[in-house]
Amino acid sequence: MSQSRSFRLSENEMNEILEHHETPFFVVSTEKIAENYNFLRKHLPHAGVYYAMKANPEPAILQTLSALGSCFDVASAGEIAMLAGLGIGGSRMIYANTVKDRRGLAAAQQYGVKRMTFDDESEIAKIAAYVPDAEVLVRIAVHNKRALVDLNTKFGAHPEDAIPLLQKAKAAGLRPVGICFHVGSQSLSTAAYEEALLFVHGLFAEAKAAGLALTDLDIGGGFPVPDSDGLALDVAAMMETIDRQIARLFPETAVYCEPGRFIPGTAANFVASVIGTKDRGGHPWYILDDGIYGAFTGLLFDHWHYPLYTFPSKPGKAIASTLAGPTCDGIDVIAEDYETPRLAIGDHVLATDIGAYTSVSATRFNGFDIAPTYIYEEECAASSGEQELRVAAH
Ligand SMILES: *Cc1c(COP(=O)(O)O)cnc(C)c1O
Repeated sequence: MSQSRSFRLSENEMNEILEHHETPFFVVSTEKIAENYNFLRKHLPHAGVYYAMKANPEPAILQTLSALGSCFDVASAGEIAMLAGLGIGGSRMIYANTVKDRRGLAAAQQYGVKRMTFDDESEIAKIAAYVPDAEVLVRIAVHNKRALVDLNTKFGAHPEDAIPLLQKAKAAGLRPVGICFHVGSQSLSTAAYEEALLFVHGLFAEAKAAGLALTDLDIGGGFPVPDSDGLALDVAAMMETIDRQIARLFPETAVYCEPGRFIPGTAANFVASVIGTKDRGGHPWYILDDGIYGAFTGLLFDHWHYPLYTFPSKPGKAIASTLAGPTCDGIDVIAEDYETPRLAIGDHVLATDIGAYTSVSATRFNGFDIAPTYIYEEECAASSGEQELRVAAH
């Protein structure tokens, strides 16, 4: 199997969970989390893993990954403290937010987070004040037009400044250990990684000539998952190509990646209910109990479209319909021209591939609660024991 398949609840399993819980809710499969982690380790064996927990910091996900030996990419005091609370030490974290605030630096100092990234001279004295022996990686901007989320306008030093920045860090007493980049999130380009690796290889040689012995390379995240159109890319082949390039160019370097989306993206489902219906000149609208301010914030923040499935209580012909959220804002629309048989109040809607950048950015706008996350293996313990993890191809 070259393509990782997504976790999807069967209708029976969904109904089983609905017997114990009201909608809306997420269901995460920790087995699928482990499968995604192992997939990455298998196809990209030359890179260690620092899970970018901002994608989904659900404790069961962090614990599953921790047990498998994963390290973690953190960006704030809150994320550092959360991992520390799970017994994960600072030596297993990289503080990969290039601009760190005082609370984050104090937490890094308190919990022993020594490895961190920066992309501007102004950061050096701040780091030195809190973690004087920090091991720092300079983040450089790289080019990639084929990423859904650009991370190279706000982040990354100009490559020409990389070596001078590392030298300045050294002069301030820090330990300049390496270089990092992020090609952008949901990258559909393997070449972007290959080109970045080739370029950084040149920088490593320049650093050596300048008297800096760099030991670490951090290739960031960006590995893609399917959306409502599937995924027209073989992720295993992508990772294997990157891996070959690492093995060829960086045989002596400690290389690691920071996958966010790839780990939880395909491991969660979301179940909502129809709470109201409207007829707009023959075009049905269905109001659900969660929307763009909740589980579906990714429609806005993450430029995303989730695969959706409806469960009509009465069979019928599929017609173009609008699915919307419960808040009093007109932008709270989840899908337009979505083909579904007519739905009634109480019918359910399932979304898949909704595990990354979703629950974590949900809001309480209008006083609606943030949907809870349940763990598939706990909810469906009886059935999941005997049966294979249910997955659905796209
Ligand atoms: C968000 C982020 C990641 C994860 O990116 P994905 O595209 O979700 O894999 C990794 N590293 C850094 C520094 C990030 O900010």
